[in-house]
Amino acid sequence: MEKSIDQIRDEALADIETAPDSDSIKALSVKYLGRKGLLTLFLRHISTLPQEERPAAGKTANITKKQLEKRFSEAIERFDKINYSKEDRIDVSLPGRTAVQGVLHPVSQINLQICDIFKRLGFNVAEGPEVETDYYNFEALNFPKDHPARDMQDTFFVSDNIVLRTHTSPLQIRIMEKQAPPIRVIAPGKVYRCDSDLTHTPMFHQVEGLVVDKNISFGDLKGTLTAFVHQFFDEDISLRFRPSFFPFTEPSAEVDILCVICRGKGCRVCSQTGWLEVLGSGMVHPAVFENVNYDTTQYSGFAFGLGVDRMAMLKYGIDDIRKFFENDLRFLRQF
Ligand SMILES: [Zn+2]
Repeated sequence: MEKSIDQIRDEALADIETAPDSDSIKALSVKYLGRKGLLTLFLRHISTLPQEERPAAGKTANITKKQLEKRFSEAIERFDKINYSKEDRIDVSLPGRTAVQGVLHPVSQINLQICDIFKRLGFNVAEGPEVETDYYNFEALNFPKDHPARDMQDTFFVSDNIVLRTHTSPLQIRIMEKQAPPIRVIAPGKVYRCDSDLTHTPMFHQVEGLVVDKNISFGDLKGTLTAFVHQFFDEDISLRFRPSFFPFTEPSAEVDILCVICRGKGCRVCSQTGWLEVLGSGMVHPAVFENVNYDTTQYSGFAFGLGVDRMAMLKYGIDDIRKFFENDLRFLRQF
């Protein structure tokens, strides 16, 4: 009898060792400990034994039963743990996920570069409202009432007398109203026009510049803007001052640089001219000074304006301004 219960136990332990999963352990548990299990049948069989053998056989059988119950539940627990860790375990060989570090928008970067250069040249930085009155946006800057820029085609009108500023030039008036010369200031900011194509967006960025003092000449204008262009693009880049017209400057000049793409040979970007326009400028018109009660016999000055987005396009070789404002991270992350 003793031998037989030992056999049952040894077979059961061997089966537990080789069971591949918790389902087979459960099946084994039924095979040995179930209602018709091998050990259960053996326990029933004890009552048929001779009287003197029953106590020893019963004791051994009960010890074996408890031992097997313990081993079955341990085995099930072990398999449950393995299944759990398969789902949730951490793969330490996976490369880490780095936190995405944001960068400044390319237009903001160029804006800061432009401001840095002018700050080194002794300019202060000023800001003003994007919603302007007709007076500051046009009238005080010597735009006649019938000037085409006042047309609905170019200007966003909020009401008859209120506009989204079409340039940063209203800052010239706002600054001169508050402050007596000498003035040496730049005003970066957003401006708005009804316009949208490859090189125009309804909102874009300008930097305005204004210098007013005694004895300011066109030579100062040329020197300042030449220094800026050389620092921004390249010390060796050629530039030219081309006569132009703005209502609030006289004489007026546009500043062109030698095309950064074709170096003057002529290409699609420069419309085969070999030159690229980068700045508008001129000597402040006496009518503007009169609007802010500056003495035109004592003071003279120059003003300029440049498109920040255009400068970014030229510097980075981008052919469509709209790319700056489509929020495509694949484009923006290149800068
Ligand atoms: Zn070119």
